[in-house]
Amino acid sequence: MPEGPEIRLAADRIAKVLVGQKIVDACFGPDELKRFEKKLRGTTVTAVDTRGKAMLTRFANGLSLYSHNQLYGRWYTTRRPKVPRTNRQQRVALHTETHSAFLYSASDIEVLTPAAEKRHSFLSRVGPDILDQGLKPEDVVERWQAPRFRNRALGSLYLDQAFMAGNGNYLRSEILWAAGVHPVSRPSALEPAEILKLARQTLKLARRSYRTRGVTASEAEVRERKARGMMYSQYRFQVYGRESLPCYVCDTPIERLTSSSRGVFVCPDCQPC
Ligand SMILES: [Zn+2]
Repeated sequence: MPEGPEIRLAADRIAKVLVGQKIVDACFGPDELKRFEKKLRGTTVTAVDTRGKAMLTRFANGLSLYSHNQLYGRWYTTRRPKVPRTNRQQRVALHTETHSAFLYSASDIEVLTPAAEKRHSFLSRVGPDILDQGLKPEDVVERWQAPRFRNRALGSLYLDQAFMAGNGNYLRSEILWAAGVHPVSRPSALEPAEILKLARQTLKLARRSYRTRGVTASEAEVRERKARGMMYSQYRFQVYGRESLPCYVCDTPIERLTSSSRGVFVCPDCQPC
């Protein structure tokens, strides 16, 4: 799983028990956050948003709980009064009448006002989340046209959280192949129709891999490949991890290149330079 869908899945789990519910008790591990415990009591959770690896739990009183999980942070949800069995250090506990959400081990936690969110060092740097339901292909096209992005290679843009948050390495290969675009291409060199197609594939494949827990092939393709006896690791992707195997469209052997120090898989025929 790329980091985007993974954090979005965690956010959905938390949203399920918190959104629309009143916080009856809030507890923070870090001393500097204890003053917010009282401010969150009695307020309602309105949404759980993600921006790359960051999560924003939104409250009706205007405050948001920002958490960045880095490597070790982990959210748990339980039915009250159950507490997860773990040796990890508890950093946040939010309790509703019926459920609890706990965050363990994360070190990067803040409670933000809307103004503080705007000038936040991480949030002000990251682009829109690739899984944001409100994001439209036209919005992605607009980002590519920005002076700081338009002349950069797409391969590197797709791994840059400043361009778009929540993307992952396998999605980069899968999206570029689906759009027929080579990783060294620059947005400024693409035709409007090509760039719109790329934007559409970007959102389509990100949403599909989220829904399917990491399968970018379509349902029909999966069915057909399973019928041929292929295993999950073989049927889930179109190009990623398929070096020297034939392209599903044109039979040309897939090549593995390096872009931003990580492997990107391309079909030299479907994705001309
Ligand atoms: Zn091909």
